[in-house]
Amino acid sequence: MTHTNKLAIHGGEKAKQTPFGTGKRFGLEEARELLEALEQNTLFYHFGNKVKRFIADFNEMYGVPYSVATSSGTAAIHVALGAAGVTVGDEVITSPITDQGTMIGILYQNAIPVFADLDPYTYNLNPASIEARITPRTKAILVVHLAGNACDMDPIMEIARKYNIKVIEDCAQAYLTEYKGRLAGTMGDYGCFSTNDFKHISTGDGGIVTVNSGDEEDYRRTHAFADKNYKRIGESLDRNPSSLAPNYRMSELQGAVGIGQLKRLEWLCGRRAELGSALTEGLKDLPQLTTMQVLPDSRCTYWFYMFRLVEDKLNCTREEFGAALEAEGIKNRLGYIPSVVYMQPMFQNKQAYLNSQFPFDLTGTDYKQGDCPVSEEILRTAIQVPLNEFYTDQDLQEMIEAIRKVTLYYAK
Ligand SMILES: *Cc1c(COP(=O)(O)O)cnc(C)c1O
Repeated sequence: MTHTNKLAIHGGEKAKQTPFGTGKRFGLEEARELLEALEQNTLFYHFGNKVKRFIADFNEMYGVPYSVATSSGTAAIHVALGAAGVTVGDEVITSPITDQGTMIGILYQNAIPVFADLDPYTYNLNPASIEARITPRTKAILVVHLAGNACDMDPIMEIARKYNIKVIEDCAQAYLTEYKGRLAGTMGDYGCFSTNDFKHISTGDGGIVTVNSGDEEDYRRTHAFADKNYKRIGESLDRNPSSLAPNYRMSELQGAVGIGQLKRLEWLCGRRAELGSALTEGLKDLPQLTTMQVLPDSRCTYWFYMFRLVEDKLNCTREEFGAALEAEGIKNRLGYIPSVVYMQPMFQNKQAYLNSQFPFDLTGTDYKQGDCPVSEEILRTAIQVPLNEFYTDQDLQEMIEAIRKVTLYYAK
């Protein structure tokens, strides 16, 4: 073994010698918009022009007829569920590997999350598994385009039409992600985005729901659900709700920052797509790993990168692999979340609300280890590494070198 192949964790030279590239996410553009927002003398979205402009720019970029601004991505998903008519005792089929924000709206509507299994290499919902989970209670499918990678939407939309159920796309991690030339967030009935501080673009917190039907009534319903079910489009105002909806309004300050952020989006997603594909190219010949699979004619915009270890081809545990990679100068996380969502205490105890089993007790739904075996395998064998638009080509080369060095050292 040559000197350079000695792992850093064993006292060898680190593969990554220089710090990763960084950059500023916010600039004069955002500052100018913020100042204008303040000069309006109101920060309420309905009276000002910043949220309206943010949404108009987003609609143009996405080629969608309508969308609604919200206070978070979680809020966007809850609003889409409300607009889709999801209510007490309904079932919503979704992914067991996702952010908690995917679950919250389902349970606040007193509906019941049902988990379908994932594809082992795209980490996205397997259409056959979705269909197997459909019952007369199923009201919606909530797909998650994980890490900016597109779900297989054609068969999913076909299933939804067959059973007459709604499709909501969780695009919190999937800006400008493409599936067969179509943008994620424009294919289902609603597309939900997050602008929290960790996503591709940030307004501190915030979100967007697209209304893809093009139906004005649908838009009015969605808009109202983000604003107490007050009807506040145009000049008229109706504050006499006939059902419950939360206040998830976006403020003018968030809208102002969003206008500036959208201008950076094409570049930023382009760079992430390039870096992620290059990482796959640099690793795909290693039989000890599996890389992220992107569907044909599709584009992943890599909110992060996640590969999997092929355990029987490696002489190390995942913990040892991760520690060795860290020592080479590459930060990483084992898996993505601590466990599949249905193993959380909340699901195991069927207790979303303190001292209550509602709404779980409305159905016989059970959550147990083994429900989604592929998803469990993914989380057990995956290693996640960060990707950022400010990484240089050299950063990427060193990242590939580091992963290759650790893999080849432990290869059987
Ligand atoms: C971030 C995220 C959310 C929630 O967005 P917030 O703005 O944090 O509420 C929902 N789903 C996924 C997949 C996410 O990554």
